[in-house]
Amino acid sequence: MANSKFEYVRHFEMADNMLPSTWLVVRIDGRGFHRFSQTHNFAKPNDRRAIELMNRCAIEVMKDIKDIILAYGQSDEYSFIIPKSSNLYSRRSSKISSTVVSLFASNYVMHWAEYFGEDKLQYAPCFDSRTVCYPNDKVLRDYLSWRQADCHINNLFNTTFWALVKSGMTEDAAEKHLRGSFSKDKNEILFVEFNINYNNIEPIYRKGSTIIRQKTEVTSISPRNGEEVKRIKLIPTAIYDDIIGQDFWDRHPELLAE
Ligand code: ATP
Ligand code: ATP
Ligand code: MG
Ligand code: MG
Ligand code: MG
Ligand code: MG
Repeated sequence: MANSKFEYVRHFEMADNMLPSTWLVVRIDGRGFHRFSQTHNFAKPNDRRAIELMNRCAIEVMKDIKDIILAYGQSDEYSFIIPKSSNLYSRRSSKISSTVVSLFASNYVMHWAEYFGEDKLQYAPCFDSRTVCYPNDKVLRDYLSWRQADCHINNLFNTTFWALVKSGMTEDAAEKHLRGSFSKDKNEILFVEFNINYNNIEPIYRKGSTIIRQKTEVTSISPRNGEEVKRIKLIPTAIYDDIIGQDFWDRHPELLAE
């Protein structure tokens, strides 16, 4: 197309390419999801439908953007990991952030009814996004450990808080009761007062969700002869493992090899 005299304004766009040979992490987070979860009557402390919808969105993002090797989600946030070797969108920060978050949000709306059924979406949900580069494997793992530790701390608090509230305490009183308490205090309240062993709570709540590309046998029908064909494909799949310890990384050596 012919150049116009206006084209010079393109030079006002600043380059925002992320450092080469570093891990890129895109973290999206729901905007005002405290209110969103109330408006949509999320079960407390954990609404299973909401978690499964978040996981579905992350899986759809990974199906679309093949560079992402792993995603980790908890609460209203998801982190997407892009390897050091990737040249996705020439590693342009805003291009990567905006594409991931836009795909995530549109999938959230598109798949809402599959998870929430008759409970209608009341208003358009919104997510923010940022892209951060982490220079080596240790800081990448520390990043993921940070998010999973956050999941644990919040979930232990929320589980105890809502147990107190459901037993008749006001939200203010439960808040005061737990202020300054340590993990062991909350574990004890749960065990002694509510007969709940925190370690027996489902891992999806305690550990958050990790999506990896898992080798999966898929069956399709050959268009040529109508016969069943079995193939191994890499399918983004949610697991609920501990990702802080060494075990997970030993079981998936391909993740850090990229
Ligand atoms: P901001 O816009 O700053 O992110 P926010 O209201 O979204 O504010 P967050 O710190 O992101 O605050 O917390 C998200 C909130 O969403 C949680 O505190 C919780 O109340 C709610 N929430 C998210 N997922 C679930 C879920 N699966 N079940 C119940 N509540 C949830
Ligand atoms: P990229 O992902 O690089 O942006 P793209 O396919 O979106 O690639 P654009 O240069 O952004 O390419 O162009 C958008 C294209 O969308 C147009 O070339 C046109 O084909 C189509 N398009 C957008 N709006 C309309 C419209 N209102 N009616 C018909 N076609 C449209
Ligand atoms: Mg936030
Ligand atoms: Mg939020
Ligand atoms: Mg959040
Ligand atoms: Mg376009």
